[in-house]
Order: sequence, then structure tokens, then C-alpha cells
Amino acid sequence: MQPKTDIKSLNLEEMKAFMEKLGEKPFRAKQLYQWMHEKQATDFSEMTNLSKALLEKLRASCELTVLKQEAVQISRQDGTRKYLFALSDGNVIESVLMRYKHGNSVCISSQVGCRMGCRFCASTLDGLVRGLTPSEMLEQVYRIGADLGERISNVVVMGSGEPLDNYDNLLKFIALLTNEDGLHISQRNVTVSTCGIVPRIRSLAEERLSITLALSLHASGQEKRKELMPVANKYSLSEVMDACRYYFACTGRRVSFEYSLVAGVNDTPEDAKELSALLHGMNCHVNLIPVNPIKERRYRQPEQKAVLDFKQRLEKNGINATIRREMGRDIEGACGQLRKSYIEAK
Ligand code: SAH
Repeated sequence: MQPKTDIKSLNLEEMKAFMEKLGEKPFRAKQLYQWMHEKQATDFSEMTNLSKALLEKLRASCELTVLKQEAVQISRQDGTRKYLFALSDGNVIESVLMRYKHGNSVCISSQVGCRMGCRFCASTLDGLVRGLTPSEMLEQVYRIGADLGERISNVVVMGSGEPLDNYDNLLKFIALLTNEDGLHISQRNVTVSTCGIVPRIRSLAEERLSITLALSLHASGQEKRKELMPVANKYSLSEVMDACRYYFACTGRRVSFEYSLVAGVNDTPEDAKELSALLHGMNCHVNLIPVNPIKERRYRQPEQKAVLDFKQRLEKNGINATIRREMGRDIEGACGQLRKSYIEAK
């Protein structure tokens, strides 16, 4: 039997070709596209302007990806919502909704698990299962928007997984997410976070999209970075920094650097000085995130005073920095924690 077509992952051109294969007129492609991506129908039966015959053909040949909400936790502190979704193959993934004054932001997973091995991260403890399809990435945004009953204005690919390790699907996802016949989220409101896969950062730069690149730095020197992030064994800090400069040169978009502060590891005044030197002269922004402790590791957050001090030292050196508000700490906000505790409880 032929595998079913993942129809929600097709762009309009592919959909037209698919309609022709089914013996249908190409204009049906746009109708179908709008049902899936603009109205976000969850079943073919909702698509009332398509003929019965076409709907039958679609049911027989396609899978309409719809994620099943397994659980949701709502933070009493700040309204952050953490969702656990089941995929059709039984895997589970997590996504987070964060409510800001400027709008609703959804943080999506790009893979089931992760193979990057960052020492402080819960998502990678059990390795990679598989990359998500474009439709599975989109559905996280669609289901959360529907559950909330409000528009989603920002999407950050900062959940479990390494997006640049699922590169082709990531690009398709971004195209579908920002398409004017779908949710039509502005490229400027999309951020992709990477641990630093250099050749892929360079390819992404050459796509010349208006999305923001966030680089997970976490250390200002090669040796310390290698201890925290095994990917640094493959791509050196200087290569990563060159790739970030290239991203800015190609896109004109300011790069964000993520820096998780870990007590006694990367939070000293010396670290702040070295980080300032590393970023000197770059058009960039630093997000400081006190590390979210996970039970499998002994990493701790610095005292609040040390976090503030670190930020002020960067600013004195002309580096833009914000302390990321920790959202949803009361609901296992750290990457991959909810999925892991769910699997372990089974
Ligand atoms: N793989 C991508 C995106 C997913 S991780 C990346 O590495 O950027 C999203 C961000 O959360 C990364 O900056 C990651 O290093 C950080 N992160 C993961 N676990 C964390 C934890 N326990 N505390 C603080 N930040 C964490």
C-alpha cells in the first residue's frame, strides 16, 4: 500500500500538482489550502465547498495531521501554558504558550527528543527519536491558537529538538506559517534557535528570510563551551561567530545570543568581560536566562544579584542584554521536562 500523503505539509504548488494527480482542477488546491491553513479545519468533513467525490479521494489518499492534546498545565504565576501533544505514531511532544503585552507567542518543538547532548537540557537525555514534519510543527501553533481562542502573533522554534538538524522540514514549516493564505505570521515575528550547526546557519543566511536567528552561546570561550555543549567539538566558537556575522550580513537581522547562567560555571565577572569582548562591535542582543535546574544534573542558578551584575557588566561594555523573565517555572518550564516526566510516569 502506498503511504498516505501528508497533505498539510504541502505548499500551494505541490498541492496543485497533487490535485492534478487526483484528476481535479488546480483551483481546488487553494480552497483546500485555505481550509487547512486559514480556517484550520480538523476534519475533511468541514470542507463544505469541496465535492463529495473529492473528499472521498482525499480520505483515501491523505493523512490530515491533527495533534491530540494530551495535557495542558497553566501557570498561576503568569498564564504561561504548557501543552503536551500526541502525534499519530504515539510519540508525544511539548509546546509552550507565553503571553506578553505585545501578543501571544508559541514556542514549538522541532524534533521528538534531540541528539545534541547539551549538558543542562532535559530534551536530549534520551536522544533523538525523529524530526517533526512541517505539518506537526504547524499544528502546535494551530491547536494552541484554537485552544486559546486568540491570535498567535509570534512563533519561536526553541522547544525540544535542534531545528537546523531538521532543516528542510523547518524551511517548509516557515513558508507555510508565513504564507498569506494561511496564518500569515510575519517572518519578523519568527525566531529560530540553534546550538550552532555552522553550515546550516550559513545556508539559512542565504535563504535571506527576515526571521531572527538565536544562537545558543552559553559560554564565551571554546573550552568552556565544549564542556556544556558537545556540538562545540564539531564547530569551534570562532566558526560559529563567523557564521553569525554572515547571517547578519546576508539578512540585516540582528542576531540574538542565548546565555543560560549557571552558578559557578559561566557567571563570573571574568565571564562577563570575555563575553563582552567576544561580541564587541556586533549588532546583537544577549538574552540571559538563569538556568532552569533539571533533576538529572546538578546545575544551579546564580543568585539574583549575580545575574543583575552580569547584565550590568555587559551593558557597561555596550552590549545590549535582557534577563529573560522566567516563565512557567511552576509548570516544568524547562525544555523537555514535561515530556520526560510524562513518559516516566507511564
Ligand atoms: N536546539 C536549539 C533550540 C532548543 S533549546 C538550541 O540549542 O538553541 C532552546 C534554548 O533553551 C537553548 O538556548 C538551550 O540551550 C536552552 N536551554 C535548554 N535547557 C535549558 C535549561 N535547563 N535552562 C536554561 N536554558 C535551557
